[in-house]
Amino acid sequence: MPAIRSLPPGVVNRIAAGEVIERPAAAIKELVENAIDAGARRIAVELGGGGRALIAVTDDGIGMAPGELGLAIERHATSKLADDDLIRITMLGFRGEALAALAEVSRLRIVSRPQGQASAFALAVEAGRATPAAPAAGAYGTRVEVRDLFFATPARLKFLKSERAEQLAAREVVERLAMAYPAVAFSLHLDGRRALAFEASAGDLFDQARERLRQVMGRAFADDAPVVDAERAGVRLFGLIGLPEAGRNSARFQHLFVNRRPVQDRLLRGSLRAAYGDLLPRDRQPMAALFLDVPPEEVDVNVHPTKAEVRFRAPGVVRGLMIGAIRQRLGAAGCRPSSTLGEAALGAFRTDGAPVGYGTSGGGASGGAAGGLAETALAYQAPLVEDRFALGPPAARGAGPALPDDTALQRYPLGAARTQLHDNYIVAQTEAGLVLIDQHAAHERLVYERMKADLAAGGVPRQGLLLPEVVELDPAHVERLLGRREELAGLGLAIEAFGEDAVLVREVPALLGNPDVAELVRDLAEDLGEIDQVCRLKEALERVCATLACHGSVRAGRRLTLAEMNALLRQMEATPNSGQCNHGRPTYVTLSRLDIERLFARR
Ligand code: ADP
Ligand code: MG
Repeated sequence: MPAIRSLPPGVVNRIAAGEVIERPAAAIKELVENAIDAGARRIAVELGGGGRALIAVTDDGIGMAPGELGLAIERHATSKLADDDLIRITMLGFRGEALAALAEVSRLRIVSRPQGQASAFALAVEAGRATPAAPAAGAYGTRVEVRDLFFATPARLKFLKSERAEQLAAREVVERLAMAYPAVAFSLHLDGRRALAFEASAGDLFDQARERLRQVMGRAFADDAPVVDAERAGVRLFGLIGLPEAGRNSARFQHLFVNRRPVQDRLLRGSLRAAYGDLLPRDRQPMAALFLDVPPEEVDVNVHPTKAEVRFRAPGVVRGLMIGAIRQRLGAAGCRPSSTLGEAALGAFRTDGAPVGYGTSGGGASGGAAGGLAETALAYQAPLVEDRFALGPPAARGAGPALPDDTALQRYPLGAARTQLHDNYIVAQTEAGLVLIDQHAAHERLVYERMKADLAAGGVPRQGLLLPEVVELDPAHVERLLGRREELAGLGLAIEAFGEDAVLVREVPALLGNPDVAELVRDLAEDLGEIDQVCRLKEALERVCATLACHGSVRAGRRLTLAEMNALLRQMEATPNSGQCNHGRPTYVTLSRLDIERLFARR
């Protein structure tokens, strides 16, 4: 074995370059970090030939005095380490390696002009050999040009990826640093063409950060993503977390920063994923942009050649903070962990409440294709129309005529009924996806709208009770009801005085079918107490209609045949405001195929 020898500086630098400047994007990272450390407000990055031909970073930072230029490219020469214990590192750089390494493996040129200096000075180095600094043209700040990267290390040159891959990597480096420094303007040019341009945004730090994340990660992400802002034991976590639906199949869209340094840390990635738990399928990764601020002495950034990983003095605190804060935020945003898709699905259901197809002849809203179906469909409304919405007892309803072609029904806005769940929810298939209808709420709305229409047309048809019913009430309620006797009669409800603490009911609105009269009258008295004198007559009547309608509706728990379900859907399409029940709750929700695909992570 040959004797041990100290390696010459050139070889040492080339070895270091192998670690620090592994590819063009790494050079960009080092140069942009230097610009940030120099307090630049504006940083421009240029790439030629995927970074092999040219990498140039221009900043408007503090610059270097002519005498410092030679030192800057020396190994282990830095202006950033005030503390020789490496305990309080506050700058992105501190090892003094990057420029030395670049000087060794490329043709490097540095032009720098500190604020207030009359002229810039330039220094050129080629494969480690520098020519003395000389005056040159240049604006305040620094421009570093790296040409022919790795020309001096052919081995490395061989392992470079395609130009396109290097451009992508360069882009990601600029984007990540841009996220962490929203007050700095960034631009990236690839072979002379502008690829990125982030302006510095105004406002406080929070607004700036959010605006920059919007610029980098896209509006769609930034506007939907819940904000996390939490602190524990002097550690602060801030940023945006993607909704579970925005989960991806890789961690590429997780941007994690420690003290504004982009990191690929396993503890942080693991904590982030753990926070989502079963909100995401096992093979999905959340999107996120998270900034962890830790007192510098609590974190060691000197454990990885490109500082991509860090070590925390108290990893438990960091993990606890991340999981706790993210879980809580996701919960507040309505994303509850669940073993089924049900909860997540609800988030995707739409409840726009817009009337479907109202005002057009049967299913016009679906593009007119269903126009010719209106008559066919009407035939199937029979059970509801004839009874004036009051469904008879199950025995009387029979099987009904055969259904028209199912695909034709799907062209209606509320589609073709397929089944009923829990005796109250109708599932219908539409061309666009599926609709879930609350039959009780929907029917209530139909009765209500019908009563209003009847009222406007001169009165609600009544039906006499075979046996007039005596309903006992407290005297105040009796008085209240009798005070509205005329109006109630107009609505189809005929009542008379029956002693001090009861009323006699002789007739009820026909379209209510067979209501529980006592319950109906008591509810009405309650309701009148609330509206008494306050509402104008019309409003009062509508409120009463609503109460009456509620009693006439197909209550939850009533089984419907497919024909009856379809009839209800067609009736809804032809009725104004049928998207909401009288209490303002939606009567149906829709889920598009796209939503369904998203739920199952097919998109
Ligand atoms: P480090 O960043 O670890 O200090 P570098 O080799 O990247 O090591 O840079 C060496 C020194 O050169 C820095 O400490 C700094 O003083 C100076 N320097 C490098 N780039 C710039 C720049 N863009 N503006 C001002 N000074 C710079
Ligand atoms: Mg540096």
